[in-house]
Amino acid sequence: MTEFHALVPAAGSGARMGHESPKQYLPLAGQPMIAHALNTLCSCPEISTVFVVLAPDDRQFHTYDWSRFGDKLQPLFCGGERRSDTVLNGLLASELEPDDWVLVHDAARPCLTQALLAKLIAELRDDEVGGILAVPVADTLKRAGADDRILRTESREQLWQAQTPQMFRAGLLAQALQLPSRFTDEASAVEAMGLQPRLVLGEPSNFKVTYPQDMLLAELLLREK
Ligand code: C5P
Repeated sequence: MTEFHALVPAAGSGARMGHESPKQYLPLAGQPMIAHALNTLCSCPEISTVFVVLAPDDRQFHTYDWSRFGDKLQPLFCGGERRSDTVLNGLLASELEPDDWVLVHDAARPCLTQALLAKLIAELRDDEVGGILAVPVADTLKRAGADDRILRTESREQLWQAQTPQMFRAGLLAQALQLPSRFTDEASAVEAMGLQPRLVLGEPSNFKVTYPQDMLLAELLLREK
């Protein structure tokens, strides 16, 4: 039977947050940030295993108590230079069946809800290709020229912002991530194989914590949960 697994790349340094500690460990609503995503993924009954892919020299993960997740949570210390290297290394180390579904989710998206996760799985479980959570672009888009002056306004029609989880078959995703290009998400690697992943309507609250001010918003949303 086809299984569902989650894979959380958590080997980034989070340089844009301006902290010494990698951002996945910054305290957020009483826990390290990564605990929120792991909690949602580990609580999902359809997901069999949650692989968290850490930097080989990560010393912080084991300083927290993860025993509540039991064997469902599997740390792998094989993160790479870029996010796509981390995901590929994790996929190869996890030894999943090629047809198993894998849901790749950023450690830095702590506000993913159980309802959104269930919706993604329900909408894609019979899909040929797989797909991603995403939201239509809300703001007007400006193309910048020299000196931060607006060159022109771009149409936002049919433009979406990609979120995670991104859900693909493990074999297809591993193959796609080995293509000789740079990818900033899993879907773009699958697109490079000539396939068209589905867009599943997400929620703006599933944003990626990138800048220091994002922490406050995440904290408010998590306290409301
Ligand atoms: O830095 P950014 O916000 O794009 O990172 C998104 C996710 O990818 C984070 O969970 C981060 O830990 C992870 N990442 C990784 N390996 C890298 C770079 C980023 O696992 N080399």
